[in-house]
Amino acid sequence: MENGQFAENCYLLAPGGSTDAVILDPGEEPERFLMEARRRGWTITAIWLTHAHIDHILGVGRIQAATQAPIHLHPADRLIYDNLSNQARLFGLEAPSAPKPDHVLTHGQRLMLGPISFEVRHTPGHSPGSVCFVTDGIVLGGDVLFQGSVGRTDLPGGSFETLASSIHTQLFTLPDDTVVYPGHGRHTTIGAERLTNPFVGE
Ligand SMILES: [Zn+2]
Ligand SMILES: [Zn+2]
Repeated sequence: MENGQFAENCYLLAPGGSTDAVILDPGEEPERFLMEARRRGWTITAIWLTHAHIDHILGVGRIQAATQAPIHLHPADRLIYDNLSNQARLFGLEAPSAPKPDHVLTHGQRLMLGPISFEVRHTPGHSPGSVCFVTDGIVLGGDVLFQGSVGRTDLPGGSFETLASSIHTQLFTLPDDTVVYPGHGRHTTIGAERLTNPFVGE
């Protein structure tokens, strides 16, 4: 669901039949997602972060306060994460408190959500610690690859070369019909972007 002034996509994920849920990238409107989880009878058991830009982590503190769910972040984005108050100031926002991450994400690590296994892939370039979460037929991609676009690389630690290499080695190697759920905008597929993306397509 898109939320907040950054139109950031936050995802609430629970495998069929399960009441355990993961929240991915809680942005500016955490209350909406807490309410949605309550309405569905889901318990948020983990907070997964694709990276530490403000639009993806504004709601972390509120979600953790309400659920005690542990926070997962790649260590290469820790500096950006710890700088949340400075990020907020740039946007004229009040600096929220961000509790320390509880778990370090590593490339190749597997995270379980009920019976579903997600593979963590380190995909730097938009930020140094960007990761994608990959499971059968699905990628939760954060701000790495968008429909017809890619993540911006002009922010601290960004690099277009690194981003393009991440996309080619970690994402375009997935099956064409894999659906990409990005941090902004509509979902797309690996095949569509491999063929038509103006920045990294063939
Ligand atoms: Zn970002
Ligand atoms: Zn974003």
